[in-house]
Amino acid sequence: MADTAEPLQRVMVVVAHPDDPEFGCAGTVTKWAQAGKEITYVLLTSGDKGTRDPALRPGQLAAMREREQRAAAADLGVKDLIFLHHPDGILENTLELRRQIAALLRQHRPHILITIDPWRHYQLHPDHRAAGQAALDALYSAREWNIFPEQLVEGVTPWQVKEAYLFWTENADYWEDITCCIDARITALARHATQVGADTAKLDQRIRERAQEVGKKPGYEAAEEFKRIQF
Ligand SMILES: [Zn+2]
Repeated sequence: MADTAEPLQRVMVVVAHPDDPEFGCAGTVTKWAQAGKEITYVLLTSGDKGTRDPALRPGQLAAMREREQRAAAADLGVKDLIFLHHPDGILENTLELRRQIAALLRQHRPHILITIDPWRHYQLHPDHRAAGQAALDALYSAREWNIFPEQLVEGVTPWQVKEAYLFWTENADYWEDITCCIDARITALARHATQVGADTAKLDQRIRERAQEVGKKPGYEAAEEFKRIQF
């Protein structure tokens, strides 16, 4: 008999920069990976402008940040990592970007999409707005037969994501208990040495305090919060 309640097994995380997943949702990613979900990270840029060191060229920084992201993802049990290499700092929600993400959704067929909430008031980082918007626009495109139909070859069919989780939101309605995984999240975050520096004690404290604060509402020791949209 066909199982109508298909488990939400595959997860795609679409973000702007290396370190966005670790700052936004890595406790949840770790917990879900441990529970057997298959996680794919899609990095739209490689964070190649994220330095104040004028001696460091964008190409060098991109390579360093991709290495850091690979190490962090390996710590968390992420299965797959995809870099699209758009330029950092000037990311736009173009049709081309939407097309690329839609193709990935159709090929990888994730049940769950995690991305940045593009509608948070005063979300000033243009890349964060563009990444969330592009991911959600692609989610819509991916399920339609007549949008980007050139992708529907060699067994590729439209794909309907079942749930979207938006982090860095001001409209949270879903809390994940990450008490199990807060240490793993902090260890993974420390992998991003070009961004967080060598002295991670303060970062450790800041992340723990924030996770405790978020956990107060649902009554968890530590939590991450999301706006959840179900389709
Ligand atoms: Zn970012």
